[in-house]
Amino acid sequence: MSIPKIEVAGLRKQFGELVVLRDITLKVDPGAVVALIGPSGSGKSTLLRCLNLLVVPNGGRIRIGGDAFDFETGKALPRPKAQAKFRSNTGMVFQHFNLFPHMTVLGNVMEGPVSAKNMPKAQAEAIGRRLLAKVGLADKAEAYPDRLSGGQKQRVAIARALAMEPEVMLFDEATSALDPELVSEVLGVMRDLAAEGMTMIIVTHEIAFAREVADRVIFMRDGVIVEEGPARDVIDRPQQEATRAFLSHFH
Ligand code: ADP
Ligand code: MG
Repeated sequence: MSIPKIEVAGLRKQFGELVVLRDITLKVDPGAVVALIGPSGSGKSTLLRCLNLLVVPNGGRIRIGGDAFDFETGKALPRPKAQAKFRSNTGMVFQHFNLFPHMTVLGNVMEGPVSAKNMPKAQAEAIGRRLLAKVGLADKAEAYPDRLSGGQKQRVAIARALAMEPEVMLFDEATSALDPELVSEVLGVMRDLAAEGMTMIIVTHEIAFAREVADRVIFMRDGVIVEEGPARDVIDRPQQEATRAFLSHFH
């Protein structure tokens, strides 16, 4: 039994009166891939954003690697330095690529290590070129983002997140904004990362991909984990009516 890489316990979040995460408890083992599925508005993005402190929970506990925070109403947030360290445990890839338009592809990938880690430029460039090769874009290093397809931009976004050497990668509908013919090149990079042992949480509507690549699937609805288990069990033999109803949209 290994120690989980991610542990979330009793996590709660509300925006005003709207309760978005009710009592989320989950564990992710090192190297495991978890697919988080569920209807729009069920709290998937909010959960990922809590893991990255983009959203501050109202209660509960999150541990990622060696860093843990307890969240309680009225309690002060962790100090900025501790927040930054906590945040650096996770690399996040969003639906929209958010690349810096005035920087080359290589510049985008180097930016984090240089500005946040004070890494010497030559070293950041070496890392950046290696990561661009890894995502199949070595020849685009000097290009500007507006010259890239959506799939290429998203692969740059993945390389940029990896450049910070996160312990965990979080993907929030990374392929949802892509033209259909560009989806597979991004899923391919995600599949490679999974095979290399990266710990990942993937919010996705690509159910076939989740079934193939994820170790576990978590089905969320209305801020609650309704069902979770081995990917093929949940997807092929859902136990809960809500999970069945959701999955029936994908057949
Ligand atoms: P999902 O990613 O599963 O579609 P979200 O986590 O984006 O769900 O949203 C869950 C609910 O929280 C939705 O009702 C959404 O409108 C609401 N919500 C998300 N972010 C905010 C915010 N910053 N302020 C107010 N409501 C929000
Ligand atoms: Mg979302």
